[in-house]
Amino acid sequence: MVCNFSVQHYRELLMSAKDAYRFIKLIEAKNLPDDMFILMRHDVDFSLNSALRMAQIEAECGINTTYCICLRSPFYSIHNDYEFGIISTILKMGHDIGLHYDPNFYQNRGLSANQGIKDEIQILEREFGTKIIGISQHAPASNDVFQPEKEYVDAYDKRLTTDIKYISDSGQSWRNGCLCKHLFKFDKIHVLIHPEWWMFNGAAWEKVLRSIKVESVSFLSHQFDIIIDWTRGYLEKRNVLDIEYKSKYHGSSE
Ligand SMILES: [Zn+2]
Ligand SMILES: [Zn+2]
Repeated sequence: MVCNFSVQHYRELLMSAKDAYRFIKLIEAKNLPDDMFILMRHDVDFSLNSALRMAQIEAECGINTTYCICLRSPFYSIHNDYEFGIISTILKMGHDIGLHYDPNFYQNRGLSANQGIKDEIQILEREFGTKIIGISQHAPASNDVFQPEKEYVDAYDKRLTTDIKYISDSGQSWRNGCLCKHLFKFDKIHVLIHPEWWMFNGAAWEKVLRSIKVESVSFLSHQFDIIIDWTRGYLEKRNVLDIEYKSKYHGSSE
C-alpha cells in the first residue's frame, strides 16, 4: 500500500476501514455512538468537481460522509446550474451536506457570526431541500476561535476534536501522519479530508491547485463562448425577434 494523496490510496483507506468502523455523518454526530466509528468530513474549499469524484468513490464503497459547502467561496458557486447539480447529486448518493463558513465574511460586514451562519444554513436548506445542522469553520488555525450556538453540530467542538482522535489533511500535510497510520489504533476518529488533495493522482498541493485553476478557467471560458455565440445570434435576428415580441405582448406587429 503506497501512502500518498491519490484516489487509489483513498479507496484503500475506505475499504480497510469499512468492516471495522461505522462511518457517521456530521448530522449523526449530535450523540456519538459507543462502538467504533469514523466521522468523515469534507470541507470543500476549491472544487465541487473534486467533491463529486470523491462522493462517487465513497458511494461505490458503500460509505456516506459529509460535504461542508461554502457559500462565500471565490472558486465555486451553489447558484449556477452545473454546480447546483453537483451538490444535488452528492445528496442523492446519500451523503450529508453541512455549512463551511468563513467568519471573516461576517466580521467584515459587521454581522454576528451566529446570524451569518443561520442565514447561510437557511439558504442551503431552501435550495437543496435538506436539513442542515453540521457546520465547520474555514481556516480555524488562522482565525479566532468561535463558539456557535448549541443547536448546531460544530466540527470544532471539543467533543469532536479533543475528546476523540482528530486528524486533518489541511494543506496536504498531516500533522501526525495519514489516516492509514491511525486506523485500528483509535476506536473513534474524526477526520477532515479535503477532496481536492486526493483527486489528482498523488500530485503535490501546488500542482493540484494549478490543475483546478485550469479546470475552473476552462469552465468559465466555455460559459463566455456560449454567451458570445448567443449574443451574436441574438443581434443577427433582433429585427425579427422585436416584431415577434411586440405581437406576443402587445398584440401588434408594429
Ligand atoms: Zn496513508
Ligand atoms: Zn476551508
